[in-house]
Amino acid sequence: MSDGHLLRPPGARDEAEFLRRCLQCGRCAQLCPFGSIFLEAGFDPRTCGTPRIDPRRTPCWLCMRCPPACPTGALRPVTEMAKAGMGRAWLDKARCSTYEGSILCKTCHEKCPLRNTALIMDLGMFPVVTDACVGCGVCESVCPRQAIVTLPRAALPPGAGGGTP
Ligand code: SF4
Ligand code: SF4
Repeated sequence: MSDGHLLRPPGARDEAEFLRRCLQCGRCAQLCPFGSIFLEAGFDPRTCGTPRIDPRRTPCWLCMRCPPACPTGALRPVTEMAKAGMGRAWLDKARCSTYEGSILCKTCHEKCPLRNTALIMDLGMFPVVTDACVGCGVCESVCPRQAIVTLPRAALPPGAGGGTP
């Protein structure tokens, strides 16, 4: 999470429009086969009950089942992983063991569902997040050094984050 913004499921519209449309029905959370979506708790009536993802608990594996199931289009009915538009991963090189020079680790690259487009290996060894990243959070969830955080789209400049409408 960043600046109070929530990481939404794939296909989520811009936050204001998403909040207007979301019925807090929980259908997306019910059908996610990985249990990736949970419903926000708390006392804010605008966001309480809306779906979010916390990669440190469970990332989104981009199966793309939830967007077409949303009854109000709060999630655009996208089915391509590359258009998920959730956000973007940010890699802290100071924490990454490869950049730091201790061990050569390729965990994030091996697990990225958009390997070699969203996450590439510079010189075959240094992970680099590209503009194709959709912010699924898989790399954050698998990094053994907690060197990656996933920034929700609402926390990014307009147009950033793969598949942004
Ligand atoms: S795309 Fe699939 S894995 Fe990701 S939140 Fe939706 S149902 Fe879950
Ligand atoms: S770089 Fe990370 S957040 Fe981006 S698509 Fe790959 S695994 Fe997902």
